[in-house]
Amino acid sequence: MPLEIVTVHCLSDNYAFLAHDPETGRTAVVDVPEASPILAALDDRGWSADVVLLTHHHADHVQGLDAIRARFAPRVVGAAQDAHRLPPLDQQVREGDTVEIGSEQGTVIEVPGHTVGHIAFHFPESRAAFTADSLMALGCGRVFEGTMEQMWQSLSKLAALPPETLICSGHEYTLANGNFARSVEPGNRRLISRIEESKKARAEGRPTVPSALSLELETNPFLRPDSPEIRSNVGLPDASAAEVFAALRARKDNF
Ligand code: ZN
Ligand code: FE
Repeated sequence: MPLEIVTVHCLSDNYAFLAHDPETGRTAVVDVPEASPILAALDDRGWSADVVLLTHHHADHVQGLDAIRARFAPRVVGAAQDAHRLPPLDQQVREGDTVEIGSEQGTVIEVPGHTVGHIAFHFPESRAAFTADSLMALGCGRVFEGTMEQMWQSLSKLAALPPETLICSGHEYTLANGNFARSVEPGNRRLISRIEESKKARAEGRPTVPSALSLELETNPFLRPDSPEIRSNVGLPDASAAEVFAALRARKDNF
């Protein structure tokens, strides 16, 4: 039975996720931007926080942990590489390591770029990946610490997951990301319809996250450096995919 995934809106534009294994009744919380909405979402369902999966060390992804720990005693999982600047971890993980939510097994994917220790969690049976500020809905995280080449490699790993994978990312940035995406690929009709669908969702107060990887592959400019229209718009018709990605990311930083 697949994990039941709940998107929890935190702070102004962050998302945490609950991932509940119906077989064992165990629940993971992925990132803890703010405790109160997460605790309310758990209480509403009568679930407890058995595991906390941390994607990276930024405050808006970890700062609710103490209050979650005051109520529950979760096993806290995070990147070995960033253990020195993450909250105390019960399990330090690296590329390819296994994490468990009840009977469901996930795999750690190292996705450096936004931060050097950023990780994603892929649960193949449930067709879900928790990507936070690496691959995002219609966008990707800013490259704060790693190199553009690293970020491109990270996104390439995520892009190679099965296309039906649900991408559970960390922020509601989709409309702003859509404005940028349209500026570099205005002829992408699937992109234009996605933007319209996202506007409708936001007007109705619905999150645009998670999103299917297949949709990201069709519309997210950061996964589309091979698009002739994008290449022509950034003036790099013959560059490598990594170079086109870097140009897109730099352009978005100043958009
Ligand atoms: Zn971040
Ligand atoms: Fe963030």
